[in-house]
Amino acid sequence: MRYRIIVLGAGYAGAASAGHLARQLHPDDVEITVVSAEPDFVERMRLHQLAAGQELRRLPLTRMFAGTGIRLRVARVTALDAERSTVTVTGEEGTEQLEYDTLLYTLGSTSADHGVPGVNEYAFNVADRPSAQRLRELLDELGDQGRVTVVGGNLTGIETATEIAESRTGLRVTLVTTGEVGGWLGDKARRHLLRAFDRLGIAVHQQSTVERVGATGVHVDDGTVLPADVTVWAAGFTTHPIAAASGLKVEENGQITVDRMMRSVSHPQVYAAGDSAHTIGDNGQPLPMSCASANLTRTQVTATIVGDLTGRKVAKAPLFYPGNCVSLGSKDAFFQVVDGEARSKTWSVRGWAATRIKAAVLRTVAWNTGNPTYGMPSRRRRLTTAPVRASRAVAD
Ligand SMILES: Cc1cc2nc3c(=O)[nH]c(=O)nc-3n(C[C@H](O)[C@H](O)[C@H](O)COP(=O)(O)OP(=O)(O)OC[C@H]3O[C@@H](n4cnc5c(N)ncnc54)[C@H](O)[C@@H]3O)c2cc1C
Repeated sequence: MRYRIIVLGAGYAGAASAGHLARQLHPDDVEITVVSAEPDFVERMRLHQLAAGQELRRLPLTRMFAGTGIRLRVARVTALDAERSTVTVTGEEGTEQLEYDTLLYTLGSTSADHGVPGVNEYAFNVADRPSAQRLRELLDELGDQGRVTVVGGNLTGIETATEIAESRTGLRVTLVTTGEVGGWLGDKARRHLLRAFDRLGIAVHQQSTVERVGATGVHVDDGTVLPADVTVWAAGFTTHPIAAASGLKVEENGQITVDRMMRSVSHPQVYAAGDSAHTIGDNGQPLPMSCASANLTRTQVTATIVGDLTGRKVAKAPLFYPGNCVSLGSKDAFFQVVDGEARSKTWSVRGWAATRIKAAVLRTVAWNTGNPTYGMPSRRRRLTTAPVRASRAVAD
């Protein structure tokens, strides 16, 4: 019987990790199964574009994994039992329990409602493909007129508000946020952002906490009701509850507690990467949920798994966050560089050059996800007879 590796999720962290493991471990020794709710690799970083009305290219996972030997199971993970090493999945083939020897958990994140009443009933989001698609249909129904209120002044809120305002010029878009919009940015990037909002006609309601979302508007703590035909909730991401219910050690926010090498600290067979993992970066701070972090952590986690299973020393991959490249519609963007403490530096790239950087990032990340061993030889290593965490003592 071959050694069973299951990868949960096929996003930026999961799809690339599975491909990497398949190219680095010998197929006679391991059987790699990927469980994904979606048959395609979903470019989550483009979901605000989908919501605004753009078509996203299809990237079927079967094509991405062709020739790798990876088994794809299109199904929803409904439970994980870390004590019994089983995963419950439900799909077209029914409900089944899968057993694993090694599990890589990369289910990503979902929209965080922060317990605000009415969010689940009346607001829409862009956190996953079906949600973004629903929002798009609703915006289509609105047609050329109507009011859209976007809640959240961070990256996703900014990208969503600008994309909708640019693509659907008849709609009146308002962004509401607790602090100052773009308050964390350097001066130049912030001025650039505010000019883009002006150009696109986006109204900003700052220093306002949303207390309730209703059918026709958003209720703010200063008593204002911002009327909305459509409310978009972009007030942050949170983890799926599956990890917390599994017996794994998790943080207060539900992210899996991992060591520097992305191993679960409570269950030696389990690893995590991407938004689901509580990763402490090289600056001592938790890495933000982001595509950049997913790429860094998947590089580390695959090196760790290969090392642990083949008895090789595991090298430390860098875990640093470079900055935010934020689109402002399709023709404008800014790239805010951060320092080692993740604070915005004074300089940033803005306008046309940043648009090109953003486009290159999106293209490169999608390509790298399908070609995860780019730049390194594909070596099918044999497993040690009893794959234990041989390298743990060496690496820690
Ligand atoms: C609109 C938008 C714009 C963004 N822009 C940026 C950006 O510019 N820069 C940046 O760094 N980050 C950005 N992000 C954040 C970034 O997309 C995430 O941090 C990143 O996707 C995390 O990667 P991941 O692999 O951990 O999770 P994901 O990419 O979300 O992958 C998770 C996978 O798990 C699957 N899954 C989830 N639940 C289940 C289940 N129960 N059963 C089976 N499968 C399941 C999903 O279908 C998916 O395949 C953006 C996010 C959004 C929504």
